[in-house]
Amino acid sequence: MADILRAVKGMNDILPASVPRTEKLPDSGLWQWFDTTVRTVLGRYGYQYLLTPIVEPTALFVRGLGEVTDIVEKEMYSFVDAMNGDRLTLRPEATAGIVRAMVEHNALYNGPLRVWTMGAMFRHEKPQKGRYRQFHQLDVEALGFAGPDVDAEMILMARSLWRELGLVEGQQVRLELNSLGQPAERRAHRDALVAYFQQHADALDADSQRRLHSNPLRILDSKNPAMQTLIEGAPQLMDFLGEASLAHFNAVRAVLDAAGLAYRVNPRLVRGMDYYNLTVFEWVTDQLGSQGTVCGGGRYDGLIEQLGGKPTPAVGFGLGIERLLLLIQELALPVPGAVPLAYAVLPSAAAVPQAMAALESLRAAGVAVLMHAGGGSMKAQFKKADASGARYALIFGDDELARGEVAVKSLRDAGAGQRSVPIGQLASLAREWLGA
Ligand code: ATP
Ligand code: MG
Repeated sequence: MADILRAVKGMNDILPASVPRTEKLPDSGLWQWFDTTVRTVLGRYGYQYLLTPIVEPTALFVRGLGEVTDIVEKEMYSFVDAMNGDRLTLRPEATAGIVRAMVEHNALYNGPLRVWTMGAMFRHEKPQKGRYRQFHQLDVEALGFAGPDVDAEMILMARSLWRELGLVEGQQVRLELNSLGQPAERRAHRDALVAYFQQHADALDADSQRRLHSNPLRILDSKNPAMQTLIEGAPQLMDFLGEASLAHFNAVRAVLDAAGLAYRVNPRLVRGMDYYNLTVFEWVTDQLGSQGTVCGGGRYDGLIEQLGGKPTPAVGFGLGIERLLLLIQELALPVPGAVPLAYAVLPSAAAVPQAMAALESLRAAGVAVLMHAGGGSMKAQFKKADASGARYALIFGDDELARGEVAVKSLRDAGAGQRSVPIGQLASLAREWLGA
C-alpha cells in the first residue's frame, strides 16, 4: 500500500461528530449550527450575503493592510502564477477583497450597503490551539455609513449572535472598546510616543526597536511580557483626540449603555491592521489561553479611497469561527444536533424498492429519514436505529408491505407500542410528526 497523504500543516479537516478525531476540534455539526444561526441573526439586521475570490492580487493586501503589519511582513501565502507571472496571495482576511469588489462594481452607487461573507482565510503562522494556517472567518462590513450608530449596531449584532449561540456576554465573552481617532490625532500621538520610547530605547526588544520608526503604534500591541510596564507608561491616544472624535466615541458608548451592554474601554487596543480609525473593538474570552480574541473590528474610513475608490466611510468586523466554536465546545453549551426524525428498518432485500419509494414521499414532506442500508438482522438494525437518535422506527416488513403498509414504532416512548400506517398516507403521517 502506498503512503497516505496528509493535510498541509495547520490546515484542518472539519469532520462529523461520528468520526473519531485526534485533535479536539469542533465537529461539523457545530459548524452547521453556527452557519444557520449567523444567517438568522444577520438577516434580522438587514445584512446581505456576498462572496469574493479566495485568491487576490498581492498588491491588494500590501496596499490595503499596510506594509509594516504582521500579516504583510510574514504571514501571507503569496506565489507567482506559473502560467502568466501574476503575483497572487491567498486572502489573509476578507475586508480588502470586499472593498476591492465594491470599488470594482461601483456597488455603493445607489447608497450604503451592509454585507457579510464567511469562508477560509490563510496566514502562515505557528499552528497551535485557536491558531491555524487555514482558518475561517465570519466577516461583516457596513460600507458608506459615517455615523457611530452603525458601529454600535454592529456590536449589538455580535451580542445578539452570542445570545443565540448560548454564550453569556460579560462573562464568557467580553467587549473591549477604544477609539483610534483620526490620522492627524494619531500623528500627534505618534510623535509623543516615539519621543517616549526613544527616552527608553534600551528597554525595547528587537521587534519594538524595528517598529520604533516604521510603526511605533504597533509596539503597544506587543505580546512580550518584558515590555508591558514600559507600554503601560506610554502616552495615551485618548488624550490626543479632538472634539469630533470624542463625540463619535461617546455616541457609540451611549447606544451600548442604553442597550445594557457592558464593556471595558481599553486604551491599548490598537488592532493589527493599519487601516482602522475611530471605533475599534474586540470580543475576548479568558477560556482559550493566549488565543483569546474571538472577534475584532472597527472603522476604516480611509481604506476605500486607498484602494482607488471615492472617499467612503466604513466599519466592519472579523470573527474567528474556530476560536468561537472551540469556546462553545469548551463550555459544553447545548447544541441542537442534526438527528433524523425517523430510521427506516428494512428486514429483507426484497423490500428495498418499495420502501425507498415510500421514504421519498416522507422526505418530500420535510421529514429527515435515515435509511438502514446494507441489510443485516432486525436486531442489528434496531440497534443502529436507537444509536441514530431518531424518534421513530419505520419497519418495512414483508407482511406489512404485502398489505401496503409500514409499521411505525416509537423509539423514545416504550409504552407507545406499534401501529400500521398505509404507505399512501405517509404524507399525513409527516404532517402529524411535524406538527403542521
Ligand atoms: P491575533 O492577535 O490573535 O493574531 P489578529 O488581530 O491577527 O488576531 P484579525 O486579523 O483581527 O486577528 O482577525 C479576526 C479574528 O480572526 C481574530 O480575532 C481571531 O478570532 C481570528 N484569527 C486570526 N488569525 C487566526 C488564525 N491564524 N487562526 C485562527 N483564527 C484566527
Ligand atoms: Mg494575528
